[in-house]
Amino acid sequence: MSASYLSEEHHIFRGAFRKFLEMEAYPFFEAWEDNGLIPRDFWRKMGENGFLCPWVDEAYGGLNADFAYSVIISEELERLGAGTVGIGLHNDIASPYIDSFGSKNQKEKWLPGCVTGDFITAIAMTEPGAGSDLSAIKTTAIRKGDFYIINGEKTFITNGIHSDLIILAVKTDPKAEPAHRGISLIVVEKDTPGFRKGKKLRKVGMHSQDTAELIFDDARVPVENLLGEEGKGFYYLMDKLQQERLMVAVSAQTAAEVMFEITKDYVQERKAFGSSISNLQTIQFRLAEMATEIEIGRTFLDKLITNHMNQLNIVTEVSMAKWWITEMAKRVASESMQLHGGYGYMEEYEIARRYRDIPVTSIYAGSNEIMKQIIAKNILKANTYKLE
Ligand SMILES: Cc1cc2nc3c(=O)[nH]c(=O)nc-3n(C[C@H](O)[C@H](O)[C@H](O)COP(=O)(O)OP(=O)(O)OC[C@H]3O[C@@H](n4cnc5c(N)ncnc54)[C@H](O)[C@@H]3O)c2cc1C
Repeated sequence: MSASYLSEEHHIFRGAFRKFLEMEAYPFFEAWEDNGLIPRDFWRKMGENGFLCPWVDEAYGGLNADFAYSVIISEELERLGAGTVGIGLHNDIASPYIDSFGSKNQKEKWLPGCVTGDFITAIAMTEPGAGSDLSAIKTTAIRKGDFYIINGEKTFITNGIHSDLIILAVKTDPKAEPAHRGISLIVVEKDTPGFRKGKKLRKVGMHSQDTAELIFDDARVPVENLLGEEGKGFYYLMDKLQQERLMVAVSAQTAAEVMFEITKDYVQERKAFGSSISNLQTIQFRLAEMATEIEIGRTFLDKLITNHMNQLNIVTEVSMAKWWITEMAKRVASESMQLHGGYGYMEEYEIARRYRDIPVTSIYAGSNEIMKQIIAKNILKANTYKLE
C-alpha cells in the first residue's frame, strides 16, 4: 500500500531515480565499499540530475521539492547500501542549516553548489571528549577583528573527507552559563587556513561512507560565515534534530525491509532435509514476526513523515521512532543472518554487509539512550501522551 503523502509524481520520480541508480551506482557500489569512498564524480551526476537538495528554492538553483522527495531519495539510496548515508546527510541534515539560518548572501554563495554537488556539506558537533553531551564541546571560536580564530578537534564526521563546507558547532563564549548558551554555528570552507582534515576513520560498517576527524589550529574564518546569531547554535541544532532523526528512522526502516526481502527469498531457495527451509514452522514464525515488526515500523513512520511535512512538532514521536525502528532493524539483521546459516557470514552475501552497517543507527544522531531520555522528559513535562 502506498503512503498517503505520496502522489503519482512522487512514484514517477522514484522510478526515474531507481533507473539512475541502476545505471550509475549499483554496478560500482561494491568497488566504492572496497575503496572506502563514493567518488566525487557520482555526487556531481546526482547533482546534474536533480537528486541533491531538491528542496532548495528555485532562486538558488533547486527544485522547490517537498519532503517526500527527500524520503524517496533516502530510501532508494539505502536500498543500494547504507554507505550512501553521507548523501542523505548532505541533502537533508547539513545543507538545511544554510537554508534555515543563513543570510541571503550566504544562501546565494553556498546553496547553488549544494544542489550541483560542487559543495559537499558536513555537520560537525562531536569531539573526542563530547558526543551525547553537546554542551561540553571544547572547540572555541574567538573573535579577532573580522575573523573568528578557531581551535579544537572534531571526530566521527560524516563526509569529513569530501566536505567543502562544514557546519561547525563551536563555543564563541566558552564561559557562558549555562554552557549551551555559548554555542554558535560557523560555516568553515575547505581551504580555510589553519583547518585540515584528519585521518579517514576505519569503521565496522558503511565502508563507502567517508568518516573523518577535522582539526582546527588557529583556523581563520571570516565573521560573515557565522550562521544566524552568536550563542544560538544549540537552539538551531535542536530545531533541526527532528528531521535528522526522522531520516535515520527512514533509512533503518528501509534497511529492515531490504533484509527481510533478501531473507524471504533465501529461505525459499535453501533446502535442508529434502525440502525448502521455508516449509519449517520455526522459520515461518520468524518470518511472520519480522514482517509484523516491519509493518508496525512502516505504519508509524508514514504517519510521522506526514506530520513532519505538516510542520508539526513531533520531537517526542520521532525520538520513539528513532530508537524503536533502529532496534527493530538490528533484530531483523540478526535474525536474517541466522536464517542464512553459514552463508550469511560470508562477505559475498549482502546480508553480511547489512549486518555490519545497521548497529550505528542506534548510536548516531543521538544515541537510543538519549532518545528515551527525551521521550520520558517530554511525557513527564506534559503529564500526558497522545500522538496527533
Ligand atoms: C559512523 C558515525 C558517523 C557519525 N557522524 C557524525 C557527524 O556527521 N557529525 C557529528 O557531529 N557526529 C557524528 N557522529 C557522532 C555520533 O553522533 C556520536 O557518536 C553519538 O552522539 C554518541 O556520542 P559518543 O560517541 O561520544 O558517545 P558517549 O556520549 O560517550 O556515550 C557512550 C554511551 O553512553 C550512553 N550515554 C551517554 N549519555 C547518557 C545519558 N545521559 N543517559 C544514558 N546513557 C547515556 C550513550 O547512549 C552511549 O551508549 C557519528 C558517529 C558515527 C559512529
